[in-house]
Amino acid sequence: MNFELTELQQQIQQTFKDFVNRKVLPQAKAIDENREFPMQLFKEVGDLDFFGMRYPESAGGSQMDIVSYCLAVIELSRGSLSLAAVCTMQSLMATYFLNRLGDKEIKGYFNEALEGKKIGGICMTEPNAGSDLFGIQSKAEILDDGFILSGQKTWVTSGPVADFLTVLAKTDQTEGLSIFFVPTHLEGVKIGKQIEKLGVRGSVTCEVYFDQVRLPSNYLLGKLGDGTKYLMEILAEIRIMTAALSIGVATAAFEDALQYALERKQFGQVIYKFQAVKMKFSEMKVQLETARHYTLYAASLSDQNLPRQQESMIAKLYASECANTICDQASRILASYGFADDYSLQRYLRDARFTLIGGGTSEILKLNIAKELEK
Ligand SMILES: Cc1cc2nc3c(=O)[nH]c(=O)nc-3n(C[C@H](O)[C@H](O)[C@H](O)COP(=O)(O)OP(=O)(O)OC[C@H]3O[C@@H](n4cnc5c(N)ncnc54)[C@H](O)[C@@H]3O)c2cc1C
Repeated sequence: MNFELTELQQQIQQTFKDFVNRKVLPQAKAIDENREFPMQLFKEVGDLDFFGMRYPESAGGSQMDIVSYCLAVIELSRGSLSLAAVCTMQSLMATYFLNRLGDKEIKGYFNEALEGKKIGGICMTEPNAGSDLFGIQSKAEILDDGFILSGQKTWVTSGPVADFLTVLAKTDQTEGLSIFFVPTHLEGVKIGKQIEKLGVRGSVTCEVYFDQVRLPSNYLLGKLGDGTKYLMEILAEIRIMTAALSIGVATAAFEDALQYALERKQFGQVIYKFQAVKMKFSEMKVQLETARHYTLYAASLSDQNLPRQQESMIAKLYASECANTICDQASRILASYGFADDYSLQRYLRDARFTLIGGGTSEILKLNIAKELEK
């Protein structure tokens, strides 16, 4: 792949590649099996300044471009999609609103989050509101000196270990949704049960309950009712990042399958020599390279501040669908070994399903891509 990366981008890619090869790959199986937040590796990713990559130097970040961020994300998810999922949550959705809209107190949390000392999550989804965010029922009652937050959230990534959450809720006085900062130590915040799931098992998720949680006025992030407007500011980046997650897991599946096909012998020759197997590899390669190039293209549009809503949706839709096809094809190449717990392919296959959901389902993306065409 050559997307005319700058020297700095190549260095970042190499740094994360080396880190993943050295530290993540040996632990990837255990991260999946333990179903626990990968705390030690999370902190080591923090030491690589990953959490601050997208924030200005004045805020304590390193102000890297999105292409560089994607290159790092691809490497992390090549190693472990669980680890990459919690790290991208920390570096983007969990912290963006704190930096953009928080006061001095909240920025204190943000600064610690950039170092991996505090862990954050975002609470949008509810049991009865997934794709349809306007269906949420969590409510903030407005007081003279703050708010009382009540409601239930679910699928909160990093929720079981989170120190703070950004929460989307309704109020009586506005049509739109509002965003609140909620430290998890506050009275009335109850971290519910961990959701056991098919894939990304080390990216722990849970339900969270807010039982009459008293919030001071400064915990409203931005203006009342403007929550979705703020969310829109990072939506394209979330989608581009999810495309990068997809490419990482697809790369892992592709590389494992290639190595296997070049070693496994049947009928007196390595199975790579069979035309039916070769065809699978050329199809996978075309998908992988196309997804990678298109995603970096969408990221580069974002870096240049050019319109990228449509491109980010295309990147996410294409890359996540390809990742699932590639994991499926790779698994067929390993046949019975693709089915065995001792091999990583079954994990890639399970983990890749997540990329079809996070950042908007394929159906929602298709609807929105078509909607853009009508304009
Ligand atoms: C591992 C994991 C981690 C997550 N982490 C977080 C998190 O940290 N914070 C958070 O807030 N949420 C999180 N989520 C939730 C995720 O954002 C939602 O699952 C996602 O928005 C989809 O919602 P849903 O699952 O309720 O599906 P639904 O919205 O109920 O959709 C069900 C099906 O109906 C289809 N559908 C829905 N509406 C339409 C339509 N208008 N037209 C056509 N088809 C439609 C969907 O495409 C899908 O196939 C996570 C989910 C997973 C799996």
